[in-house]
Amino acid sequence: MIILDGKKISSQIKEEIYSSVEKIKISGGKQPHLAAVIVGSDGASETYVAHKVKACEQVGFKSTVVRVNENADQKVLLEKIDEINDNNDIDGLIVQLPLPGHISEDTVIERIKVEKDVDGFHPINVGRLLIGQPGYVSATPYGIIELIKHYEIETSGKHCVILGRSNIVGKPMAVLMSRKGYPGDSTVTLCHSRTKNLEDWCRQADILIVAMGKAEFVTAGMVKEGAVVIDVGITRAPSEKTRSGWKLLGDVKYDEVAPKTSYITPVPGGVGPMTIVSLLNNTLKAAKKEIY
Ligand code: NAP
Repeated sequence: MIILDGKKISSQIKEEIYSSVEKIKISGGKQPHLAAVIVGSDGASETYVAHKVKACEQVGFKSTVVRVNENADQKVLLEKIDEINDNNDIDGLIVQLPLPGHISEDTVIERIKVEKDVDGFHPINVGRLLIGQPGYVSATPYGIIELIKHYEIETSGKHCVILGRSNIVGKPMAVLMSRKGYPGDSTVTLCHSRTKNLEDWCRQADILIVAMGKAEFVTAGMVKEGAVVIDVGITRAPSEKTRSGWKLLGDVKYDEVAPKTSYITPVPGGVGPMTIVSLLNNTLKAAKKEIY
């Protein structure tokens, strides 16, 4: 069994991004710049944005955090997005989700300029992914693809079973794994809460990608011997063993599943760091105007 070490691979990719930024600066170019908009003061959102800001610093990007009051009208948020869209110094713009209930996520995402949508959530970027045109790919699926590439995991002709059909993970993952070429050429089964005989589908998977948000849902009995298991899930669970008083759990019962697998991602240290580095990769592409 080989551990898919997202922490290590993401560090290597960060070094590559840092070198690219140095080259841009030496040739008189502008430092890549990511703006993150955060609405309200949700603890988890604050943590995610803080991680993204830190990652920007590590690779030599500029970053700006724009805060909007929790109770602010949607109009206020849209005006902030317009300002960032029009700011030529800013290459990438992300709005940290989830948003308060009175704000439409769809309206907000559609307001972001496609060229700056480094989260890859805008319908144009999602559509481009679907038909195989260049665009920004959502960071988590992009990170998983990079992990598969780094470990040279065979995907052609494999049965890839994905648990979860969210717009940001499950659905784009299904598109990427079934597209022509490498990594891809898999036969994909996309499962969700209405799937019948879920355990049977899991047992048929050569590659099992789990993005449900249900802590330790996948047990050893659901995994085929030698399967590749990629665990996207992150759930905070109380713990007496840590100083913070909580620990992170994946959607896979790691200790019992890992011995059966050929490759597996740990939680933490698997998909999470790859997600952040993929956001950096998208921002670098935006700064270099590689796509639009
Ligand atoms: P989401 O939008 O909540 O979607 C969850 C999906 O799982 C849905 O499609 C849902 O089915 C399905 N599901 C839930 N319970 C199920 C069950 N008992 N049986 C079968 N399917 C079930 O989740 P998400 O945004 O994709 O995130 C999933 C997990 O990944 C969360 O823990 C999240 O924190 C984590 N995550 C991690 C990263 C990272 O960087 N590591 C990035 C993004 C997300 P229905 O559609 O039928 O409701």
